[in-house]
Amino acid sequence: MPEAPLDLLLLPTWLVSVEPAGVVLRDHGLGIRDGRIALIAPRSEAMRHPVAEVRELPQCLLAPGLINAHGHAAMTLLRGIADDLPLMIWLHEHIWPAEGKWVDEDFVRDGTDLAIAEQIKGGISCFSDMYFYPQIAAERVHKAGVRAQITVPVLDFPVPGALNAAEALRTGLQLFDDLKQHPRIRIAFGPHAPYTVSDDKLEQIRVLADELDAGIHMHVHETAQEVAEAVSKHGERPLARLARLGLLGPRFQAVHMTQIDDEDLALLVEHNCSIVHCPESNLKLASGFCPVERLWQAGVNVAIGTDGAASNNDLDLLGETRTAALLAKAVAGSATALNAHSALRMATLNGARALGLETQIGSLEPGKLADVVAFDLSGLAQQPIYDPVSQLIYASGRDCVKHVWVGGKQLLDDGRLTRMDESELIAKAREWGARIAKR
Ligand SMILES: [Zn+2]
Repeated sequence: MPEAPLDLLLLPTWLVSVEPAGVVLRDHGLGIRDGRIALIAPRSEAMRHPVAEVRELPQCLLAPGLINAHGHAAMTLLRGIADDLPLMIWLHEHIWPAEGKWVDEDFVRDGTDLAIAEQIKGGISCFSDMYFYPQIAAERVHKAGVRAQITVPVLDFPVPGALNAAEALRTGLQLFDDLKQHPRIRIAFGPHAPYTVSDDKLEQIRVLADELDAGIHMHVHETAQEVAEAVSKHGERPLARLARLGLLGPRFQAVHMTQIDDEDLALLVEHNCSIVHCPESNLKLASGFCPVERLWQAGVNVAIGTDGAASNNDLDLLGETRTAALLAKAVAGSATALNAHSALRMATLNGARALGLETQIGSLEPGKLADVVAFDLSGLAQQPIYDPVSQLIYASGRDCVKHVWVGGKQLLDDGRLTRMDESELIAKAREWGARIAKR
């Protein structure tokens, strides 16, 4: 049987596969066939394969697509609406009232589109979303060609699109059913936080997640205040309560975790949970510091997320990763904490593992889906290049993102979106901004 030709052969100057860790290949080719990585081989060998299209990528670093493991996509339309406030005042006095007034299906559609476009331009091939009208977000992800975990938000009180938790869960179950075969969308449960979801709802979510083998994605221990209030009201730390209710496990994605004592760490290790670290949101809301190095040393999987644009205020995962690498050193009091290669791993393979997708994405390995990003390191500010991964994490901004492929389909070509109209997105965002500013 003659070998089937590759659909596309990428020939970058450098390739970082993330797994095995720390390896940078020079002058290698990556071949794509049927949406998957079919080959990684030295350039001369790769070029001997029959191929439909060859793409030379001089001075580019090819890496796995970045994975933004926590965000609220449609909140891009509330970017900068209320800054420089503590979490509870920000939420109760600004964000929740604005959401109550403005969030409907149109808001979620336009805000999610804006977020998807910003993320693709920043090298993000997969993101996790937690927002109202998850069915609309799923529809936008489907259309845009990007990959996502869409979580179904569950809260004890009425929210846009759901009068109560029971209605939210009904919508969620319908989504599970509709999208169970979708190649790029995975549905998970998104109980908002320990202080907004009661025990009986959490138990219900645990039963459903077990049945459906679904992820549970939740803000946990975001601030010291959250933990202190739970202890004074219920005599129990939130993570301990979640363990008692049976929610913790390898599918549990604990977002933030700025407060971790020895017992919390033992629970995270015992149940093999993932943490999603959101350093810039934590810094901006003065929420606290997630002890990344301590978690890493204990073997806990730590992914990274931008959180929503209303508390960050961008969806720049490359910038977030740099912040994470720098902050990890400051928090650990050690310059050896979270080196550039580990930081990139956090933004790729660890994100995939948190979302239960580590066998499919997160590293460049034959057989995995071709979610690939090419970073252009030819600029003046990146010279000279001793280690391209160091240049990427410590010396590059997201403007160096040149090409993005998801499942072998190109969504960004030389910095331009292939499936979305950037000027239309900007015009729509401005329209929303003008309307909301008049509030
Ligand atoms: Zn969040």
